[in-house]
Amino acid sequence: MTQIPETGRSWSAIQGELESAKAMDFSWRDGRMALYYYFLDDELMQVQKGAYNAYWMENGMAQRAFPSVKKLETEVIEMGLNLLQAPAGAAGTFTSGGSESIFLALKTARDWARAVKGIRSPNMVIPRTAHPTFDRAAHYLGIDVNRVPTTRNDFRADPAAMAERIDPNTILLVGSAPNYPFGVFDPIRDIAALAAERGLWMHVDACVGGFIAPFARKIGYDIPDFDFSVPGVTSISADLHKYGFAAKGASLMLLRDGALQKHQIFEFSNWERGTYISMTTQGTRPAGAIAAAWAVLNYLGDSGYQRNARIIMETKERLVAGINAITGLKVLEPHELCIFAYTSADPQIDIMAVADGMVSRRWFVGRMAEPPGVHLALNPSHEQTVTPYLEDLKAVVADVRARATKGKTIANTY
Ligand SMILES: *Cc1c(COP(=O)(O)O)cnc(C)c1O
Repeated sequence: MTQIPETGRSWSAIQGELESAKAMDFSWRDGRMALYYYFLDDELMQVQKGAYNAYWMENGMAQRAFPSVKKLETEVIEMGLNLLQAPAGAAGTFTSGGSESIFLALKTARDWARAVKGIRSPNMVIPRTAHPTFDRAAHYLGIDVNRVPTTRNDFRADPAAMAERIDPNTILLVGSAPNYPFGVFDPIRDIAALAAERGLWMHVDACVGGFIAPFARKIGYDIPDFDFSVPGVTSISADLHKYGFAAKGASLMLLRDGALQKHQIFEFSNWERGTYISMTTQGTRPAGAIAAAWAVLNYLGDSGYQRNARIIMETKERLVAGINAITGLKVLEPHELCIFAYTSADPQIDIMAVADGMVSRRWFVGRMAEPPGVHLALNPSHEQTVTPYLEDLKAVVADVRARATKGKTIANTY
């Protein structure tokens, strides 16, 4: 078992070891990973790192000591609120990621329902396509989860089926913009109307879409309404560290009505050190993540985000056309933004064998369980890999077909 070394080692040796350790990883820089990172170019990475380093030591919890951190954070939140069409009086929180944003939205909704409606055994009704973090947060918070199957033909939440699952203890409905498995938008307008009619909290999970969908719409793509412009939407999660291109550890939880923050806040004074107040699940927070998000928003600007959205959407269109052109594969439709999945269209083609074949060619592959498929979440660095990806995919499918014809099975190599 590894121990702390007896005496310290040199930075140059350590640095070299870190660099060489990466040899065992899939390469994000070459665009060979289908998910987990968001890379535009080295210039933007310099901005992320420079801003993060400029606030390396500062602590995001210590806003009296570092008023500049508070100012940067406030500006990031306001940019998010404006982008997602929040009305006057709205409020937001900078969090460590989508998971924390969703946790805080559910926590605030739970305490609101407890205070306002006296609900003690809350439940929520969410589409089956909603992110697993809803169940994780609900598990911590003591909320029961009803996952409702989506409509079969378009993978969208089914508001009529959701309505049937609402009971007197239901506090919250959810819609995704878009959902992670299929990349389609739930009918936010219909779910929000249902929530408003029943007096429920409506959370929109725009962790994926929050910082790309508005820009895709501006350049002409048909993006359904999903933000605070839709009546009945109570809260939104939007990840800066996904399509906001911020450094990791950055997301927003936004509330239509800032007065609801009284159900979010944690305040404590029963110890010797005095009052402790926090709006998040964290204590110490990296101010670097706040500074990096602020810097990237200012560096890219509206036009930079539009440019990114265009690269991503056009890359997706090229990949989708290329995959559909390979006999035996088909892209699942619809998909409306930066995520899609493909599956087998031929009983001879085992899609998991195709995924294995891509892995053995050093592509990091996202796998879909239902239906079995390959899943991609695109970012601008995939622009350069469309051609090599499609060439490898074609070769792998031919290989899988040849083996299937010979009646051999393929070992699962990954
Ligand atoms: C990524 C994601 C989350 C969780 O966000 P993290 O930043 O990974 O914590 C929630 N919902 C959706 C739709 C996501 O894509």
